[in-house]
Amino acid sequence: MSVEAGKPEDAFEVDARATLFGFDDEDVRARVIARSRGWRVGGAARTFGLFVLVAPFVAVIPPHAVWFIGALATGAVLARRRYIERFTLVGVFGVCPKCQAPFTVKKGRLKDPHPLHCEGCHHEPTLRLADGALRSQAPH
Ligand SMILES: [Zn+2]
Repeated sequence: MSVEAGKPEDAFEVDARATLFGFDDEDVRARVIARSRGWRVGGAARTFGLFVLVAPFVAVIPPHAVWFIGALATGAVLARRRYIERFTLVGVFGVCPKCQAPFTVKKGRLKDPHPLHCEGCHHEPTLRLADGALRSQAPH
């Protein structure tokens, strides 16, 4: 496991495996950013705050209540998504277990297990991190 710098928001790499039913697992490296509580709470509050500000303006359009509630609900969903993003997956270095094509991933919340999309064969291998790989990296 390598950590490039001491700041909690910096990216680091962990060992992982790409698995696909019927094929041998491939060893890969996952590049991950550990998110601090401040980043998650601050981002969630900003996101929800923005939608609270927008809600009265969209409520001018009939049917008023639908837009108002819709704006608040959208803000809540996006804020929750930010709040639960403890780790952000920024890259996967390795190849698909089926077609050996390298992975390209979209930056986003790391799920466990995390679905990967293969551009080569359009299958969806699963990214599994080594047990406890993130435990020592979790910010406080
Ligand atoms: Zn593939």
